[in-house]
Amino acid sequence: MSLLSVNQARERILSHFQPVTTELLPLAGCSNRVLAQDIAATSDLPPFNNSSMDGFAVRAADVVDAASDAPRSLRVVTDIPAGSHPTITLASGEAARIMTGAPVPEGADAVVPVEETNFDNRDAGTPAPDEVQIFRAAKSGANVRPRGMDLRAGEVVLNPGRSLKAQDLGLLAMLGFATVLVFRKPRIALFSSGDELLPVDAPLEEGKIRDSNSYTLATLMEETGTEVIRLGVAKDNPDSVKDLLEQAVTLQVDLILSSAGVSVGAFDFVKQVIEANGKMDFWRVNMRPGKPLAVGEYKSIPFIGLPGNPVSSFVGFEVFVRPTLQRLRGSSDGVRQTVRVRCQEQIDSDGRESYLRAQIREESGALVASLTGHQGSGNLHSLVQANALLIIPAGVKCVPAGQEVDAWFI
Ligand code: AMP
Ligand code: MG
Repeated sequence: MSLLSVNQARERILSHFQPVTTELLPLAGCSNRVLAQDIAATSDLPPFNNSSMDGFAVRAADVVDAASDAPRSLRVVTDIPAGSHPTITLASGEAARIMTGAPVPEGADAVVPVEETNFDNRDAGTPAPDEVQIFRAAKSGANVRPRGMDLRAGEVVLNPGRSLKAQDLGLLAMLGFATVLVFRKPRIALFSSGDELLPVDAPLEEGKIRDSNSYTLATLMEETGTEVIRLGVAKDNPDSVKDLLEQAVTLQVDLILSSAGVSVGAFDFVKQVIEANGKMDFWRVNMRPGKPLAVGEYKSIPFIGLPGNPVSSFVGFEVFVRPTLQRLRGSSDGVRQTVRVRCQEQIDSDGRESYLRAQIREESGALVASLTGHQGSGNLHSLVQANALLIIPAGVKCVPAGQEVDAWFI
């Protein structure tokens, strides 16, 4: 059993995964789904010249000399509320009352806000005046949002692989995409393993602990846009492990994820059961925490076994499972985005690629990190106190105070 680098292990895992199939969904169901089609603008945006203010549409040339002590008087020929479609062409000496978002009529090339006129009554239902006094000159184009200023018809605005965010859905709505081709939501079966594990509502007993990994991992998976099927806890015996794996097969999941039971402990049956019905590689990865990792398949369903210690399984998720889920769901994202941070104190490492719990804060414009709590892989509290993982590269045994390292906000 050779020692793999984190990158080697990740690449090996990823090479086994392809995106799931696609489906056409109503736009309202597309939040956090991954786009599977190019989106090209179906129209200019905005689709017509419109006013960015409540005011009066004018010909800028008519009001070049307007001032508060020398107002320019214009005849108000029409009223243009939002949603209407003016048919007039504004002639010299004329103005049209106009609302924000309403189309600017032919002939007009500027909007004078109500505040710069003698008619600033905006109460609902107030009719437009017959005449308006303009107190200030307006440049041609002032307060007019020209057609196509944001986007031209035909421009590609979103590409496949994009995980759809709130503003994306807004833009898709603007462009009239009532349905969108997205990747199906991957279905992942999750189980914990170990005779020591109690359900969350059980009182603690001597020698037992509560199963926390399934809550941490399920949450991470749901946040990553996948559907989690919680299979519960497998006991440390082959029948129990097999029972859960068979459930995953029946449910036709895209991946089985487990925690614990994959080290070389005498009671670790996961490996044994999977090997009898598929294959399983047992890897040692040059990382800390979370050296052991199991990767294989059970009856053709891919399987990833994370280590059991709560922080190890969290880190293993971030390093290996997050990019795997991203690939499955069709996303072009991988691991979390890296930021550079300055270490507040000296950090000693052991030469493995290390993922350390830290609190990052801003100090005079720079991001500064200090380690939280006990860094042992069972100490979940120190992970709760952290807002980031610092990444100490392989081969480094000491990072002096003040030096910069990579980090992931978590
Ligand atoms: P194992 O990989 O089975 O040797 O487990 C390693 C460590 O992780 C042991 O201390 C286990 O008790 C602990 N552990 C395993 N599974 C869980 C779990 N689901 N929740 C919390 N701790 C766990
Ligand atoms: Mg165990």
